[in-house]
Amino acid sequence: MGDSTRRPVAGRRSVLLGMAGLASAALAACASVEGPSGAASPSVAPPTGPATPPPSIAAASSQQAAAALAPAAIATVPGKQQILAEFAGRRPSEWGLHITGVVNNSPSKHVALTFDACGGPGGTGCDHALLTTLRRLNVPATLFINSRWLHANPSLAAELAADPLFELANHGTLHQPLSVNGRSAYGIPGTANAAAAYDELMGNQALMRELDGSAPRFFRPGTAFYDDVAVEMTRRLGMLPVNFTINGDGGATYPAATVAAEVARAAAGDIVISHFNRPAAGTAEGYARALPGMLDRGATFARLGDVLTT
Ligand SMILES: [Zn+2]
Repeated sequence: MGDSTRRPVAGRRSVLLGMAGLASAALAACASVEGPSGAASPSVAPPTGPATPPPSIAAASSQQAAAALAPAAIATVPGKQQILAEFAGRRPSEWGLHITGVVNNSPSKHVALTFDACGGPGGTGCDHALLTTLRRLNVPATLFINSRWLHANPSLAAELAADPLFELANHGTLHQPLSVNGRSAYGIPGTANAAAAYDELMGNQALMRELDGSAPRFFRPGTAFYDDVAVEMTRRLGMLPVNFTINGDGGATYPAATVAAEVARAAAGDIVISHFNRPAAGTAEGYARALPGMLDRGATFARLGDVLTT
């Protein structure tokens, strides 16, 4: 369940400040279900993070989750060469949003709200009105963050990581569909091979681990498309591949009334996808309309880490 105990923002890590300069290399935002436009940038080398600092600002409510992933779990995550050896010659047989191995809902009685921040041109904003509504109503959420957004918003990312109402998750390094053979979604080329898929997963994972010392437990690729081999790789690297049962904002394209109607449909076990990087969209207003009524009807909300086991 979401923790209602609020903590002051703390623990910003100066290491993030140096990343801002890389933001200009980002090219584009989301597509369709995942966003209105854009492509990933193949020209940016995935960042490689320094050694993992000790967890220092993990929320009290996240202690159990943190214990589940560090440090032993991190130590068992295979390296790139091992992954490439294990996945050599593998050919995918599925491609899509809800394929084998992707988690689309939870076995709990709670609704899990998830919001993506995709980065790229037009996609590096922050929907502060949405975050304010979530905080005012004490509704927890999981925030999927891409490296491009992280580069553009290092202090804000640190602030979100320090807020126990939110759990951060991995939305990829270059915001590409996750493929082992370059398959495209919405015209955006997927990662070209297993090595690129590894980089898409682990480049951002290393960056995000610098935020508070804990590695994200959940992954969703740019466009939300995977192939089944890439899904298996995601799990092998210690993350659950997550999508959704309800598309809350249509890639930040729905008007507020549609967002409100879609979000209000959510029931026990649903995972809702929306965005928090496009403040001009109808997303914030839609949630502001939907959430009070849902709470009045007894709906309860949780972060993915509270309702899914990895
Ligand atoms: Zn995205």
